[in-house]
Amino acid sequence: MKSFNPARFREQFPALADAGVYLDSAATALKPQAVIDASHRFYSLSAGSVHRSQFTEARQLTERYEAARGSVAALLNAPQSESIIWTRGTTEAINMVAQCWLRPRLQPGDNIIVSEAEHHANLVPWLMVAQQTGAKVVKLPLGPDRLPDLTALPGLLTARTRLLAIGQMSNVTGGCPDLAQAIGLAHAAGVKVMVDGAQGVVHCPPDVQQLDIDFYAFSGHKLYGPTGIGVLYGKPELLEAMTPWLGGGKMIVRVSFDGFETQPLPWRLEAGTPNVAGVIGLSAALAWLRDIDLNEAENYSRGLATLAEAELARRPGFRSFRCQDSSLLAFDFDGIHHSDLVTLLAESGIALRAGQHCAQPLLAALGVSGTLRASFAPYNTQQDVEALVNAIDRALEILGE
Ligand code: PMP
Repeated sequence: MKSFNPARFREQFPALADAGVYLDSAATALKPQAVIDASHRFYSLSAGSVHRSQFTEARQLTERYEAARGSVAALLNAPQSESIIWTRGTTEAINMVAQCWLRPRLQPGDNIIVSEAEHHANLVPWLMVAQQTGAKVVKLPLGPDRLPDLTALPGLLTARTRLLAIGQMSNVTGGCPDLAQAIGLAHAAGVKVMVDGAQGVVHCPPDVQQLDIDFYAFSGHKLYGPTGIGVLYGKPELLEAMTPWLGGGKMIVRVSFDGFETQPLPWRLEAGTPNVAGVIGLSAALAWLRDIDLNEAENYSRGLATLAEAELARRPGFRSFRCQDSSLLAFDFDGIHHSDLVTLLAESGIALRAGQHCAQPLLAALGVSGTLRASFAPYNTQQDVEALVNAIDRALEILGE
């Protein structure tokens, strides 16, 4: 692993060659040349699909496809690659746990505890399954530090609790709850835990064994990989107990008009022709990331967010919703609508996002209708911070007139 060099890191992102300032990496990360090349080579040179054909290219492709599963298992320190299920992304992975694992286990009156800090992807699937079964979704409230209040958790866990759903890192505040503590409390009450890793994985890939995580989901596109590919990690006994929600090719050993017998894990949960290009692209992203000191890169991005926050704090009306030390900076200015400000920033070539960030309950708990969010990645620079601050000054001037 090489020590982190911001200029060398940035050079690898062709999307940054033109002048714009990209501060929306929490929505999706830009792609390094290595991932673009791997995707291009795949479509240019690879023939065949996986797991079906006997000819050499298809067999080689199958080997690369399965090796990629091993790379994800290594990233998460999963005990075996069969615990890694390919999905379209975090959203699909969480829905899969809701429908294939939890739904058959829910009775009317059971409950699912969901933190108030969650992205809609880690709330709506639980509301849906609750609606389908007569169960309830119970809120684990936000504490004064803008993190899920884990001191409230023991009081919410009951004999009827079937799952705790919690995010590794908020996509708004950047807050990272103490997962070990949350999981410890849930497990002590016999409750399984779904961790949404969509936002957290790029900052700190978890050790799923050390943390004893039951289910973990992430999306390739936030980890410098392609869109349309993601991962569900599950403990083998939990994945084994899941009822496949998609039936079709590749997930069965035998089928007749009398019934079917499914493949072993992981294939029983992956019906149909998979997103091979996505897997190859994600695998290229993981190989590329192995050469990068993620801790140093993370400290660098956090430093940029700290700098931006300190600069902006000198402007009247500035409010930050950032959890300490995060590389995400959610903010607003008292009396100025976030969508007016973001429109003017876009005109200045600053790419960031404003609104509710798919986290309406969290925004309600913060007491705001929306915020701006500048998310800093290791390819950003101090010049980006200056450009943001200058553009905000110009916009505030216009809006103040
Ligand atoms: N959870 C969090 C915290 C997220 O930030 C996102 C993406 N914005 C998701 C879930 C959903 O990820 P995807 O849209 O890639 O499925």
